[in-house]
Amino acid sequence: MIFLDNASTTQISKKALDVYNFYSIDKYFNPSALYMKGANIHQEILKAKSIILDCLGASKFDNIIFTSGATESNNMTLRAFIKKGKKALIGVSEHPSVYNVAKAMLDDGYDIDYVNITEEGTIDIDDFKAKMTPDVNFVSIMHVNNETGAINPIKDLVGIAKHVNKNVIFHSDGVQACGKIFVDLDDLGVDLYTLSSHKIFGPKGIGALYVRKGVNIRPFMFGGGQENMLRSGTENTPAIFAFTTAVQLACENFAEHYSKAKQLSEYLKDKLRNLQFDIKINSNEDCSPYIVSFSVGNLRAETILRMLEEDEILIGNGSACSSHKKGNRILSNMHVEDKYIEGSLRVSFNYDTTKEDLDFFVAKLKDVISEYKNKTNR
Ligand code: PLP
Repeated sequence: MIFLDNASTTQISKKALDVYNFYSIDKYFNPSALYMKGANIHQEILKAKSIILDCLGASKFDNIIFTSGATESNNMTLRAFIKKGKKALIGVSEHPSVYNVAKAMLDDGYDIDYVNITEEGTIDIDDFKAKMTPDVNFVSIMHVNNETGAINPIKDLVGIAKHVNKNVIFHSDGVQACGKIFVDLDDLGVDLYTLSSHKIFGPKGIGALYVRKGVNIRPFMFGGGQENMLRSGTENTPAIFAFTTAVQLACENFAEHYSKAKQLSEYLKDKLRNLQFDIKINSNEDCSPYIVSFSVGNLRAETILRMLEEDEILIGNGSACSSHKKGNRILSNMHVEDKYIEGSLRVSFNYDTTKEDLDFFVAKLKDVISEYKNKTNR
């Protein structure tokens, strides 16, 4: 099998799995227990937080709240900071775990405005400047888009926002950025940043919310008061430690993996451009090298995807979470022509992907598109 859908999820690494098993079987104690074995696990959780903060260039005085994943982190953030009587800004290309929460809150009467994106898929700075008025108290703009890999200039956006309102809370969804592109949270200046484990070879069902020191967040889950009263529920310790290992590994191997992904994405884009079909590449050279989005004119992505699966090649169409939805919010907002919307596909690499994998994929893609065209007379 050739797995080219790593932006949707990844296989857990051997090291992360070993850690997961160790804390499931050997050190399975409840961190809230009063005996030493429990208290020691609690200390290890604190250590895990400082490792993640360090890997992401954050201060040791900042906080990490472990959650069940990025979806929870994003829900928790929006529910805590979007307030009645205040205005919030949300990027129009956000992942559904931000976009749909904002939509539900908008329906409930909250004052939320969407910031447009450019044809390149990044936030339209002029639109952001126009909408970032002094009454805006919360902004959520993702770092790297999960469908196109477009990278938003978060540091600049934070600068603009804080210049207008120094008390504005700035959140960024960093799921497709963490471990993939260089992330320095201190330099970015964000107040809150969302992380997910299963995109970087950690287990599923665990993620985190970075919270800058001094930012007061309201709990989303109530119960036994774990995580300093901010996220109740017995800590998922095997997943927490395996996730921390995944972050550490991503951090240690960052430069090597990044340059490999860069070569792969350029290689694939060249090969796609050389195919004699109507193909539009939606990810430009400034995008994350881990994601290549492209569209085949007048074809249905779902059909191509299923035909490729017969050859054991797995790729994505947009984001896995919205794969059953018609249309494409991101590409439509990038003003991509209609004929390319239904045929949009996403290839996303990991550090194990090879040029041979891509050669095989492109050869099969060529066959599949030809077959499709013959069958449908398009
Ligand atoms: N945010 C982005 C940008 C994503 O790509 C995803 C997953 O596709 C999520 C949030 C949701 O992550 P999780 O599966 O950890 O809830």
